[in-house]
Amino acid sequence: MTHAYEWIDRSMQTIHQAHWYRSPQVVASRADDVVHMAGRDMLMFASNNYLGLAGDRRLIDAAIAATETYGTGATGSRLVSGHLALHAQLEQAIAAFKQTEAALVFSSGYLANLGAIAAVVGARDLILSDTYNHACLKQGATLSGAKVIHYAHNDLEDLATHLAQHRHLHRRCLITTDTVFSMDGDVCPLLGIMDLADRYNCMVLVDEAHGTGVFGDRGAGVVNAMGIHQPLIQVGTLSKALGSLGGYVAGSAQLIDFLRNRASTWIYTTGLSPADTAAALKAIEIVQKEPQRREALWNNLAILKQGLGTIKAIAPNSDLASQIIALKVGDTEQTLKVAEYLKQQGIFAPAIRPPTVPTARIRLTLMATHTTAQIHTLLTCLKSCLA
Ligand SMILES: *Cc1c(COP(=O)(O)O)cnc(C)c1O
Repeated sequence: MTHAYEWIDRSMQTIHQAHWYRSPQVVASRADDVVHMAGRDMLMFASNNYLGLAGDRRLIDAAIAATETYGTGATGSRLVSGHLALHAQLEQAIAAFKQTEAALVFSSGYLANLGAIAAVVGARDLILSDTYNHACLKQGATLSGAKVIHYAHNDLEDLATHLAQHRHLHRRCLITTDTVFSMDGDVCPLLGIMDLADRYNCMVLVDEAHGTGVFGDRGAGVVNAMGIHQPLIQVGTLSKALGSLGGYVAGSAQLIDFLRNRASTWIYTTGLSPADTAAALKAIEIVQKEPQRREALWNNLAILKQGLGTIKAIAPNSDLASQIIALKVGDTEQTLKVAEYLKQQGIFAPAIRPPTVPTARIRLTLMATHTTAQIHTLLTCLKSCLA
């Protein structure tokens, strides 16, 4: 009986042997473009704090004020004692931001996807999921009990083929996709997906985790930027460009009412903390009011793009369509070496490798608050490392 846990040792050995072992790095300062890590200041090129709002004074003050007013915890699930006036305000603000009838706030984006997917489809249904979708879309699909087919990444032809073959065998069908893909930074062909959904009578769930705050005139995301007005299940997170914590689903009033009654990751968990709720609410206001943050971010992308074009040894993974940039610099070992070199130079831009992604890459994320000088430092280091 004392040997019941020995398998963990063996599993850890396997993880180490495959070079899959990972451990978190301690950050010992406020979220910013420079952070304190491992006893030194590091230039941050791996944060999802795209607009620099996680360290913004106004979000911090909103979180403090909400804590003073409501306390530190929501004290219960939303349907019992934990539905605060602040939650209602945040949900209205998200719906207005996304131009939907209603919205529902979850404890994280991960839980929003699990809850929404498992609620809208079941055993008699079909899910068509992009191969590169985020893990929580895939786990939500498994949890739902629906038949799941992974279509080739961003491949409308492959999606159409699967729809023609399988759609008629199932009751409901849900197509799921990230709008901005988290590891490669490319954008899904949403207009084409909407056309196919229309043709085959399918629902569409989009994950705007990396699109919100960044795409569209008001930062409302890719759906808004592409001018899509058909019914849609829009999921996103409050934890990236919005600098807080939590997730949401935005859509029709009927859908949201249904989720309040059927999404178990919303029903059976405690409401979002007052501090997180208030910070997100403030962020949604700022994102719409300060387009200059988005402009600065896109300008930084242009500077990086131009610089990367002069380094021959680097192959960007896609056409650099977003603030997420994946650079192929060789096999897993070489990629780890480049990441280690950058770290020694005071730049945090880690290697992402299998099993998270099929091939190793340096994954960079840009922030609105990066200066031109900081981007040039990164480019100079990449150049000297690969020379
Ligand atoms: C980060 C991320 C999530 C999860 O959001 P959290 O709020 O961090 O749980 C979901 N989908 C995608 C595409 C993400 O990148």
